[in-house]
Amino acid sequence: MEVKKIAVLGAGLMGHGICQVAAQGGYEVSLRDIEQRFLDSGMAMIKKSLQKFQSKGQLTEGQVAEILSRIHPTLDLKGAVSDADLIIEAAPENVELKKAIFKEVDMLAQPHAIIASNTSSISITELGSATKRPEKVCGMHFFNPPQLMKLVEVIKGAKTSDDTIQTVLDVAHKMGKETVLVKKDCPGFIVNRVLIPALNEAAALYWEGVADRDDIDKAIKLGLNWPMGPLMLMDYIGADTVLAIADVLTKEIDPKFHPSPGLKQMVKAQLLGRKTGKGFYDWTQK
Ligand code: NAD
Repeated sequence: MEVKKIAVLGAGLMGHGICQVAAQGGYEVSLRDIEQRFLDSGMAMIKKSLQKFQSKGQLTEGQVAEILSRIHPTLDLKGAVSDADLIIEAAPENVELKKAIFKEVDMLAQPHAIIASNTSSISITELGSATKRPEKVCGMHFFNPPQLMKLVEVIKGAKTSDDTIQTVLDVAHKMGKETVLVKKDCPGFIVNRVLIPALNEAAALYWEGVADRDDIDKAIKLGLNWPMGPLMLMDYIGADTVLAIADVLTKEIDPKFHPSPGLKQMVKAQLLGRKTGKGFYDWTQK
């Protein structure tokens, strides 16, 4: 199926970036949120990002104007999805909210339209079951920030058709992304299933006093060639988010993923990272 028009639901941290890369890929994009102030801040972030590309000489002024002309912010869900061929949901990570969105979109979208979710941990099969078109539902998992991160994980739910997967892979490639196919819908997909246990172990090493913070981060940066250490990365992601994903992996896959006492302590103490000003690092001075 050829995709011409995309609707992105949610103009937050991920949604605005997904909208931008879609418009940069040549698609007409509706960007929908529930309040004008969220649309305004999403559009402001898009403009700032495009200006950065322009100042680096990666886009011309004309290209920036063209990209912006393809983006249509709106509060009207029906208007956003009724002529879209692909709908990408990037609303908050809440299963009941996402199921309600999928149900409503299923009623408003054209029969051929694909509904994809950018969820990090919620079952694609469960979201598909909230619709009458589970064969046209899949995961399309971007990484933060979508404008810069190359990867998209495309996830097949239990009933997702091969056509749906091929269409979404093609769209991701047109957005300039590299893709991987997750053949079975499982929590954490590929990246988070590997990353979260690593972050959990780094928190455990820190709390057990095995090494100092800077040595843990230095060891992984130099020993594994990570661009940033795991404790700093956790501060960017948020210890609460890491804990939430570890809990899902533990419940849905295997007890071996259980969060360490150190990780739980960080959350209890509200040492969540950048969002609370303190985590493993102090962010109030930076
Ligand atoms: P966010 O809170 O920054 O943005 C969510 C936006 O959705 C908000 O602007 C909110 O107003 C809006 N929203 C709420 N209800 C809506 C509705 N019914 N219709 C349309 N919009 C609605 O959250 P985020 O970090 O962008 O996360 C969005 C999704 O992306 C989540 O599923 C998350 O797990 C996933 N994700 C996040 C990251 C990350 O690093 N933050 C990375 C990959 C995937």
